[in-house]
Amino acid sequence: MSIFINGNIVTLESEEKAEAFCIRDGFFTAVGSNNEISALAYENEKVIDLKGKTVVPGFCDGHMHFLNYALTKDRVDLSNTKSIEELIIKTQAYIKDRDISKGEWIISRGWNDNHLEEKRPLTRWDLDKISSEHPIFFTRVCGHIGTVNSKALALLNITGSTPNPEGGIIDKENGEPTGILRENALNLASNHFPPMKKEEIKRILSAAFKDALKVGLTTLHTDDVSHAGSLKNLLEAYKDLESDHSLPIRITLQIYSPTISDIKKANALGIKTGTGSHLLKVGPVKVYQDGSLGGRTAAMEEAYCDNESNGVIIYSQKELDTLTLEAHNSGFQVAIHGIGDRAINMILNSYENIYNHCGKGDYRPTLIHCQFTNDHILKRFKELEVIANVQPSFVMTDYPIVEKAVGKTRSEKSYVWKDIINYHIPLAFSSDAPIESFNPLLGIYAAVTRKDLEGNPITGWHKEQQLTVYQALKAFTQGTCYMNFEENLKGSIAPNKLADFVVLSEDITTCEKNHIKNIKVLETYVGGKKML
Ligand SMILES: [Zn+2]
Repeated sequence: MSIFINGNIVTLESEEKAEAFCIRDGFFTAVGSNNEISALAYENEKVIDLKGKTVVPGFCDGHMHFLNYALTKDRVDLSNTKSIEELIIKTQAYIKDRDISKGEWIISRGWNDNHLEEKRPLTRWDLDKISSEHPIFFTRVCGHIGTVNSKALALLNITGSTPNPEGGIIDKENGEPTGILRENALNLASNHFPPMKKEEIKRILSAAFKDALKVGLTTLHTDDVSHAGSLKNLLEAYKDLESDHSLPIRITLQIYSPTISDIKKANALGIKTGTGSHLLKVGPVKVYQDGSLGGRTAAMEEAYCDNESNGVIIYSQKELDTLTLEAHNSGFQVAIHGIGDRAINMILNSYENIYNHCGKGDYRPTLIHCQFTNDHILKRFKELEVIANVQPSFVMTDYPIVEKAVGKTRSEKSYVWKDIINYHIPLAFSSDAPIESFNPLLGIYAAVTRKDLEGNPITGWHKEQQLTVYQALKAFTQGTCYMNFEENLKGSIAPNKLADFVVLSEDITTCEKNHIKNIKVLETYVGGKKML
């Protein structure tokens, strides 16, 4: 129950700003001028004075791995490591500080060969320098490549004669594994660990919610299943948090289901898209169709310029068609990871296949990443009503490597968010955290300037693709809500919408664009309640 007045309120309903709004039972009931809204106050009701501060709708991140983010907080931090030597020293100190006994696994994620002095992936021999008595498994920042040490290789029974699993590669040198595992070969390591227990999931998640609220996020669409190792435990953990009133942020679960039996298991747990409440909801079935650009495992129609391969496909067309149709027929919306143009073409084929079998309908199939497109692909997006779910922050990390990897012509058709909007393709923004920071203000900065945090390149990378602040704000609010069939429930400041909003330190709509990255979130409200 609250009345807020004297605000600079960016409603996103129109470019005209409002001054005040009224909240009842967690929803906005009226938005307008100070006079109009003040008149709605009950006798003795406290009126909150926003003192001219800027208010925007709560940010909704359309795709991330929140549990994985929470886990990385608990593990040795490999991000920002500048050399292999530094990584070795850091991990040795971590093992010593925590007094981790011999034989126990050391697991983490976040190394990036582009940021390492050596400019090459980690090998078993690098990790052997940390310890020969602890098995070690370090995943690259993208999650599509990982490295294990010799102790881990022995425990996992990976030798020179172990064949590559389907959709994966065990890197070898002179017939011996180098410790590098790509795509599905990573499962050889990750399947080795027992699923997380419900109480552990609750503890790890609870320690991280505040971080998301601090940057103004009010809804997270998160794919946590593979990190939890058990959909059942994951669901129960979130449900417990909800019923204990310990879930301070709205969650939409993207259900990673790489096989038909996983989809059946999800159904057997009583879930399909839309199951749940406004606070905790089941989203789409999510699968991968390729890898990452950094790992050169994104599936391209033509080979990379600096690597003979053209990436890795996870499913054949027939397999992907069967899996997506099964998901659709089981009541799930479908969201697929596709970075390279070859993967994207195959995903679009599968979405077309759903329409061919089930007729046209409001299914809102989603393509996560959409990095390498072209006019033909974008036309198909429009025709098939596919939602583009992209990560604006990726441009900050990827711009120095795109041209080297795919050449000039293809790089011009990558990360083309302005084209996506011009084609009237629904656009949703996300972070893919922990790959990138989930701070949406950094994402908006990247979308609007096409620069990294140091301000490079000075003119912005392919600046013809820069978005306006309003376009970027909408993609991080209404765009993600549309993706989830919730455009009438949240994503703007309007009557009958959930009262999720954020108070900013500055006016994002008028400040210098390079300054957006410095804007701070002062307060975050979820359902009218101040959570930060
Ligand atoms: Zn992801």
